[in-house]
Amino acid sequence: MRVFFFFLDGVGLGADDPAGNPLAAAPMPALRHLLEGRRLLRGAAPFHGSRASLLALDACLGVPGLPQSATGQAVLLTGLNVPARSGGHYGPKPNQTIAAYLQDTLFSRFVRLGKRAALLNAYPEGYFQRVRSGKWLYSAIPQAVVNAGLPLFTAEDFYAGRAVSADLTGHGWRERLGHADAPLLSPRAAGRRLAALASNYDFAMFEYWPSDYAGHGQDWQTAVTLLKTLDGVLDGLVEKWDDRGLIVVTSDHGNLEDLSTRRHTPNPVPCLLIGPQDLRRAFAADLPDLTGVAGAIERVVLQG
Ligand SMILES: [Zn+2]
Repeated sequence: MRVFFFFLDGVGLGADDPAGNPLAAAPMPALRHLLEGRRLLRGAAPFHGSRASLLALDACLGVPGLPQSATGQAVLLTGLNVPARSGGHYGPKPNQTIAAYLQDTLFSRFVRLGKRAALLNAYPEGYFQRVRSGKWLYSAIPQAVVNAGLPLFTAEDFYAGRAVSADLTGHGWRERLGHADAPLLSPRAAGRRLAALASNYDFAMFEYWPSDYAGHGQDWQTAVTLLKTLDGVLDGLVEKWDDRGLIVVTSDHGNLEDLSTRRHTPNPVPCLLIGPQDLRRAFAADLPDLTGVAGAIERVVLQG
């Protein structure tokens, strides 16, 4: 069975506080439909509905301090308690100790087993230039992809529709990267594109990091706009998903759900599962924290 892992950076399950938590305020009709009237808040999990399930996963993993991106993403990719093993939560980019864990990840394991795996993000030419010049370190997810011998998708792939921009709609490529002719997608079209692309692989992942940036920025309007976009993407994704596999949406740590602080939060993170009920049940069995996600993905993908 195939898995599409939609990774949302910095989104936790927070309080039902429409003044401080944009997830308690933003209209998200597609998500509410999946959760049968619930919002993505702490009290909503655990939930098992007709099309989706929602779990709350601990991201602190018994390690003091606030969870960070490099270690959190390494946990999701390896199934190991990387912050406990490497001396604490660390991020945003991996140091050498964490980078060593990124040799044996979901990507490299699936490649070794002859499965088709890909990261569906497109990266602009400037990204590769900065990495080559040593000015830029890969973050944990692209590092794991490169370590597995898989290519990162390029601008050419983006223009050809083989990959999706990090902001999902392409506006960022036009407005921030100076690609005036970059293809634009509506949020729903971006969701449909992700579903179609993911169907070419046994395991596909997409990394969405603007959610963490918006949390650090503490800008309410940016956060609400971003959540509306995500809801549209989810709508398109679910519409096009043929249910021959599982969509897994989860995060590395909280941030966006509490705009009273610019720091990450110790909140549990949502793990939203969309697909056939038996797959969701199997995935959710014994999954208390982030360390269980990689193994659960492997079980589903290797199920045949
Ligand atoms: Zn962050």
